[in-house]
Amino acid sequence: MNTALIRKRLVIGNWKMHGTQVSNAMLLTGLCAGMAVVHDCDMAVCAPFPYLGQVAAALHGTGISWGAQDVSKHEQGAYTGEVAPAMLVDFGCKWVLVGHSERRALHGETDGLVAEKASAALKAGLAPVVCVGETQAQQQAGQTHEVIARQLAPVLALGAESVAKMVLAYEPVWAIGTGLTATPQQAQDVHAFIRAQLTELGVPQVRVLYGGSVKASNALSLFAMSDIDGALVGGASLVPEEFLRIAAA
Ligand code: PEP
Repeated sequence: MNTALIRKRLVIGNWKMHGTQVSNAMLLTGLCAGMAVVHDCDMAVCAPFPYLGQVAAALHGTGISWGAQDVSKHEQGAYTGEVAPAMLVDFGCKWVLVGHSERRALHGETDGLVAEKASAALKAGLAPVVCVGETQAQQQAGQTHEVIARQLAPVLALGAESVAKMVLAYEPVWAIGTGLTATPQQAQDVHAFIRAQLTELGVPQVRVLYGGSVKASNALSLFAMSDIDGALVGGASLVPEEFLRIAAA
């Protein structure tokens, strides 16, 4: 089976902690108005929690899906400030990012916690987008594969049935928000490494996105790589024309 043929492209925008109701409305209107240029590619946006209702209302029935940027590992209870997986489902979320490098670095999220969050998300019916990636120091020390394998291990340990419902995103930390992008070949090398692990688990069809300063100008060359199934896009997802051009690529 050629799994490349059945892995439909997916482009997800990560709005991070940006937006107001007014700017979101303009962005969402721009996306809906321009999405006819996008073919054979699933599109989604991951918005800050307070705006999920606004995003759901604007995108319902458009073909663009939506999600959140983090989730609690707990189902409910005395966890002030946390957001439960079922609450995201209540807002029509399909996706949730887990293990974004900013959460790992700034909020101390461990590989184990990331796997617990992914598992809780799956249990509620969400599709986790599990992010992995090495720092610049780790890359320069030649530790990229080792770091990715370590980050993935507890997630893959959830088993093939669970992993089959996920999306993975390779986001080298040194390329996030820096303007630096892995070359298509550098990215492909890591994606092939991840694909080998998925194949060993029996789920080669799982989509693996690339993230890190993806723009309309570099999307085409990245998407030409056989194991890159789309992109997780930060900064460029805040500009509708740019995000649409990435998805159209
Ligand atoms: C991200 O936030 O996941 C990301 C890849 O950001 P940027 O595209 O801005 O590098």
